[in-house]
Amino acid sequence: MRTTRYAATLAVAGLALAACSSEAGQQAEDEAASAPTVAEDVQFEEGTTMAELAEAGSITVGTKYDQPGFGLLNPDGEPEGFDVEIAKIVAGELGIAPEDIEWTETVSANREPFIQNGQVDMVVATYTINDQRKQVVDFAGPYYVAGQDIMVAAGNPEGIQGPEDLAGKTVCSVEGSTPAQNIRDNYPEANLVTYDVYSKCADDLSNGNVQAVTTDNVILTGLVAGNPEGFELVGNPFTEEPYGIGVPKGDDEFRSFINDVLEEAYEDGRWAEAWERTAGAITGEPAPEPPSVDRY
Ligand code: GLU
Repeated sequence: MRTTRYAATLAVAGLALAACSSEAGQQAEDEAASAPTVAEDVQFEEGTTMAELAEAGSITVGTKYDQPGFGLLNPDGEPEGFDVEIAKIVAGELGIAPEDIEWTETVSANREPFIQNGQVDMVVATYTINDQRKQVVDFAGPYYVAGQDIMVAAGNPEGIQGPEDLAGKTVCSVEGSTPAQNIRDNYPEANLVTYDVYSKCADDLSNGNVQAVTTDNVILTGLVAGNPEGFELVGNPFTEEPYGIGVPKGDDEFRSFINDVLEEAYEDGRWAEAWERTAGAITGEPAPEPPSVDRY
């Protein structure tokens, strides 16, 4: 009798669990999956940036606020996206919980100065690693490799297939970005218009003020997803844009610590999981192979 009752209880519990995991439980599961690991009792060598941040219990992170999939402010005023998740993983390894991250909007042109003058502890903001930037800041990573591409009006009325076709056309990009510089240096026949953020370029394309927008393919994919009736991606990337985490120049210990964290997150699946919940949810693509970090 006792055994039967026990079995019945188990069966009911099993049913309840099944119901739970299919509904409310699903949400709880999603939340559990998205909660980054926050390390406890972290130990860092005195005097390092890691020790200072862990001691303070907070970190200031620069990210984008208008790039769906990478860094976008949600209606609660919190940034969301792959860059945001990468920052949460790094903060977590410093023992800092997501709610203790202080977010600051960094646009393309102010990333180096914000790092240089200490307004942010690190920048995770679709930030291409290159030699020019390395003269004034340092980079951990890369943690993703994008490519410059072009977004046009749906139906591609101008028949733009690549950067050569921008000759005589008006193309929008962002000041201080590598794509804008590439157009200036290598496609001078294009009529380049620049703003501080890409959402303004998207508005200009909607209004017909420009005929194309150029930046990294993953940023454009997010903008197309926000207006699939209005925009389309050419889908012909013509550069490599390795995304790094910008840190103060010369802070080799902090850079090396972040590289260790990235490699761990590649190994244990946190990186892929973060991708699939953010940028991957927009592209519909599974997480790619993570790039190798470059410990220059
Ligand atoms: N990844 C490029 C850059 O760092 C374009 C994206 C952006 O402007 O953030 O400049």
